[in-house]
Amino acid sequence: MRLRSLRLAGFKSFVHPTTLNFKQDLTAVVGPNGCGKSNVIDAIRWVMGESSARQLRGEAMSDVIFAGTVNKKPIGQASVELHFENTFGKLGGAYNAYTELSIRRQVSRDGRSDYFLNGTRCRRRDITDIFLGTGLGPRSYAVIEQGMINRLVEAKPDDLRVFLEEAAGVSRYQARRRETQQHLEDTRLNLSRLQDLADELG
Ligand code: ATP
Repeated sequence: MRLRSLRLAGFKSFVHPTTLNFKQDLTAVVGPNGCGKSNVIDAIRWVMGESSARQLRGEAMSDVIFAGTVNKKPIGQASVELHFENTFGKLGGAYNAYTELSIRRQVSRDGRSDYFLNGTRCRRRDITDIFLGTGLGPRSYAVIEQGMINRLVEAKPDDLRVFLEEAAGVSRYQARRRETQQHLEDTRLNLSRLQDLADELG
C-alpha cells in the first residue's frame, strides 16, 4: 500500500486547499519553526481516526479547524483526505479488492464529524478497520514523531509487544477477539437478567 497524496482544507494552519503528492519512497517535510510540519502529521493521524484532541496537540476536536489569523477570519470546517494505492494488497478483508482507496474526514464547528471511504459516507470504525494490522493507523508506528524512538528503546516489554503485534499483523484479530469477548459477556448478563425475570414471574 502506498500513500499517494494528502489533501488538506481548513485544517489547522492549512486554510487554503493544499495537496501534497508523494511520488517517491521517501519524502521529507522541511521548513522553519512553526511553518506547519507537525500539522501535516496531525492531519494524517486525524483522518485515520484519531479521536483524542490532546494527541493532536489541542484541547478540543474543533481546534483542528483553522482558527484565523490577524489577516484571515476563522472558518467553519476542516477536511483531510488521504489517497492510497493498494499496491501490495495488504488491506484488511473486503478492502483488498480496491486498487485505489481514498479516505476523508471532515469536521465542522458545531461538532459534526464525518468519514468517507472512496466518496461514500462511512463509520469511523470502517476507517480504523482498514488499517488494523497494516502498521498504519492513528497511533501506529508508521507515524514516527519526535521522541518516539526514545520511547521505543525505553519501552517496557508489554508496550513493546503492542508494536510487534501490529507489525506481525495480529492486532486486527486481537481487536476482534476483544469485541467478541465483550459480546459474550453482554449476552451472559442479558441471560442472567432474563433468568431473574423468569424466576420472579414463575
Ligand atoms: P516546529 O519546527 O517548531 O516543530 P512546525 O513546523 O512543526 O514547528 P506546527 O506545530 O505544525 O509547526 O505549526 C504551528 C503553527 O500552526 C502555528 O503557527 C500555529 O499558530 C498554527 N496553528 C495550529 N493550529 C491552528 C489552527 N487551528 N488555526 C490556525 N493556525 C493554527
